[in-house]
Amino acid sequence: MSLDTLPVYRGLRVPRVARWSAEHDITPAVYLRNSRLAYADPVLTRACTHQGALWRAWTIAPGKGEPRFSHLHPARQRRMMTRRICQVCGLSTVEEAATEGGHLFLTGAGEETGFRGPIEEGERTLHPPVHLACGWESVRHCRHLLDGYEAARVARPVPWGLYGILHAWSGGAVVPVDARAQIGHGDPRLALLLAGQAVTELNDVRPIDLRAEAARAGLAGAEAGR
Ligand SMILES: [Zn+2]
Repeated sequence: MSLDTLPVYRGLRVPRVARWSAEHDITPAVYLRNSRLAYADPVLTRACTHQGALWRAWTIAPGKGEPRFSHLHPARQRRMMTRRICQVCGLSTVEEAATEGGHLFLTGAGEETGFRGPIEEGERTLHPPVHLACGWESVRHCRHLLDGYEAARVARPVPWGLYGILHAWSGGAVVPVDARAQIGHGDPRLALLLAGQAVTELNDVRPIDLRAEAARAGLAGAEAGR
């Protein structure tokens, strides 16, 4: 991986998965076609259909404008989850996972998130994996991780399903009924989900001390004792 190639904004390297202000939500109105959500434009519907669901439509312009650190770009998040790509540097985590006994996943664990660790077996996440070096940089600079975090090596991350706005047929129209729905793969309700993110289930989880791993790798250096 190369952290030096990441876009820099006000001295901070911007994670690849983050959204930029020049990237816009261009999701049009949805309709029901053949019992599935669809856009009026069949070409856009085809382009936005992935993993059994219709996805929100966003323009793609990484590096343009200002970064939205706390927001994930749907298309990049989906690609990173599916291919086990580091959400910070945009490169595969497969090789590191093979040598270190699992992909590294981080979860914010402060008052803001309300999460208290450790990361548990079978837990589901919307955050793609990271490399050790990328994760170590994130916990020292990323606002939602500065408040506290949990880290785990995950030997078997499995695509679980999709997160988005669940719709239903009501009164002659298709209407949103749950803005924060998580629907598993194989569930017929995926046809009525306007998807925004992919959900991964974490299996064979081993919680780790990230600071100790970083120190062993020579990343933490003099900071290890802080
Ligand atoms: Zn990385």
